[in-house]
Amino acid sequence: MNTSTHQRTLKNVIRATGVGLHSGAEIMLTLRPAPPDHGIVFVRTDLEPAVCLPACIDRLGGTHLSTALSDGQATVGTVEHLMAAFCGLGIDNVRVEVDAAELPIMDGSASPFVFLLQAAGIATQPAPRRFLRILEPVTFVDGPTRATLEPWDGMRVEYTLEYDHPGFRGQRRTAAVDVDRTRFVREIARARTFGFLSDRDRMKGMNAARPGGTPGAVRDNVVVLDECAVSNGQGLRFADEFVMHRILDAIGDLYLLGHPIIGAFRGFRSGHGTNAGLLRALMAERAAWELVTFETPADLPGALGRAIPEIA
Ligand SMILES: [Zn+2]
Repeated sequence: MNTSTHQRTLKNVIRATGVGLHSGAEIMLTLRPAPPDHGIVFVRTDLEPAVCLPACIDRLGGTHLSTALSDGQATVGTVEHLMAAFCGLGIDNVRVEVDAAELPIMDGSASPFVFLLQAAGIATQPAPRRFLRILEPVTFVDGPTRATLEPWDGMRVEYTLEYDHPGFRGQRRTAAVDVDRTRFVREIARARTFGFLSDRDRMKGMNAARPGGTPGAVRDNVVVLDECAVSNGQGLRFADEFVMHRILDAIGDLYLLGHPIIGAFRGFRSGHGTNAGLLRALMAERAAWELVTFETPADLPGALGRAIPEIA
């Protein structure tokens, strides 16, 4: 069994608490190992009875500012950074228990989740991992935003930001990453959420503590842009943090396909709504994709076939 060609889960149960971005409430998160072919399943343990929400396109709920899963009654929001951590570390099967309608925002990046998963330990399972290989280009356009999936020898994620905001001066607006575990942990996972300080907030004298009026957003977990510059008081973690965060979001959203992709994603100003539209368009185009397995790492295409050091 190989860590790239076979499914993986956690070795141990692990827990964390944090604050919800939208509710401001303290949230308990418990991650449990799960059997092969279980997938990533979110469980609302605060509801009676508990409600299971598999991380898949059929359960895609709201996509305003974050990605939510919903069955029409129960919802769990802000799943994209944890989903990105699962994808980036090559983890297929986890039961994610949460006692609120959203995941904790942590520091606004996927880094605390990566740390948590590595602390739990990662176990390789006997079942082969199924990859979703893109066979034909599929594009989804929504107003000025656009997202495309197309064939590629490996997994590539490319993103272009376009904001008039002065806070983006000097920022690199386009980035492309051939995603493997090392690059995910070093270059993508640490990029934090960013938000704008709206005029409404300024008039209310809310200052930068609560951008957009979201109760859980403080300067520790959201890079806040006001009219002159980046104003989180600490500066950026790296020069292209904003565009890298959009790449992180896209990786998390793409993992709602239930499989790592073999293909290239290109996003132009696309947010969670455009990403969701692209995933639905891909599923509707049955000739555009196939599920594949690989016997040995040598059979994996492109960067996916490179020897991957086990970071966990
Ligand atoms: Zn995000």
